Amino acid sequence: MFFILIILFIPVKIKGFDMIPLRPNIASMAGYVPGFQPADEAAYIKLNTNENPYPPSPEVVKAILAELGSNGASLRKYPSASSQRLRDTVGELYGFLPSWVIMANGSDEVLNNLIRAFAGEGEEIGFIHPSYSYYATLAEIQGALVKTFGLSPDYRIADFPDRYEGKLFFLTTPNSPLGFAFPLAYIEELAKRCAGMLVVDEAYADFGDEDALELVRRQANVVVTRTLSKSYSLAGMRLGFAIARPEVIAALDKIRDHYNLDRLAQVACVAALQDQAYFRECTGKIRETRKWFAAELVKLGYNVIPSKGNFVFATPPDRDGKRVYDGLFSRKILVRLLSDPLLKHGLRISIGTREDMTKTLAAIKEIG
Ligand SMILES: *Cc1c(COP(=O)(O)O)cnc(C)c1O
Repeated sequence: MFFILIILFIPVKIKGFDMIPLRPNIASMAGYVPGFQPADEAAYIKLNTNENPYPPSPEVVKAILAELGSNGASLRKYPSASSQRLRDTVGELYGFLPSWVIMANGSDEVLNNLIRAFAGEGEEIGFIHPSYSYYATLAEIQGALVKTFGLSPDYRIADFPDRYEGKLFFLTTPNSPLGFAFPLAYIEELAKRCAGMLVVDEAYADFGDEDALELVRRQANVVVTRTLSKSYSLAGMRLGFAIARPEVIAALDKIRDHYNLDRLAQVACVAALQDQAYFRECTGKIRETRKWFAAELVKLGYNVIPSKGNFVFATPPDRDGKRVYDGLFSRKILVRLLSDPLLKHGLRISIGTREDMTKTLAAIKEIG
């Protein structure tokens, strides 16, 4: 009986699967592969996805518990659709009116909505290689075309045209995985050369020395995106935002899910942003540890690109990133090895606590 059922069922199922009328660009795309997340996470020193080693501000936990109350009754109700308090808080912190701010469920959401707003099927978007490969995934979903630009040895964009006609250009600065940042004057020049929008992805700006926020006022086509994932230790809450001219923000508002941020994320966001003393303390510790760790690697003969992010890109003397990756992995230390031929000689190592990095350094010495 079972046997007969199985025989009848399988071909029908397979046939049904073949008939799903997927758009060809979705059928052919590979999908984004995030950094490895081990099941037994606590057993590792995890330095592969640029997470912050410190907990979020204690005010975040208080705010979440207050929002939950004793029985979570507030969760019955939808959250604020506009995340208005968050826009007010971000605006105040950076000196913009709230109409220049949009909140996002992680900055990935706003990157996605920027593509949906500005780049139609068959239209071009551009970004630097190497930078954040998720832009390509988002473009593939949209059916937009991708053009990548390489880097010159002095970390400028190679062969960037006088007039770039793509609908959007994504500039990751500080760059991940390499860690360098473009100077502000150069970013402004790029904005002027872009016929479309220039998205300055500042996921790591809080670990650097300057940012492009003032360009938003001067150049109508500039959008700056930020995340609370790294510098505010809130990767698990999914919080980001964009700052741009009100016309751009209004367009993005039409596209986003109307309740894109849940209640707990909203209160967590305000609490985190308001505790600037804690923020400065944590980012300060990471900068110090970064400086110390990079100098120690240089002593071991590593090439380390001066970094403005919460990570370093480091190349061992024998330029065999895989060998060091494997050695660290076997000692339960996870770093990022990028398979790209341009990058596989090195490792992107997130900056953890001083203790994490002391252990990592000892392991690297042992590996030799
Ligand atoms: C981490 C990261 C993001 C994503 O941030 P989320 O807010 O966690 O979605 C975007 N861009 C770059 C360059 C990043 O490194």
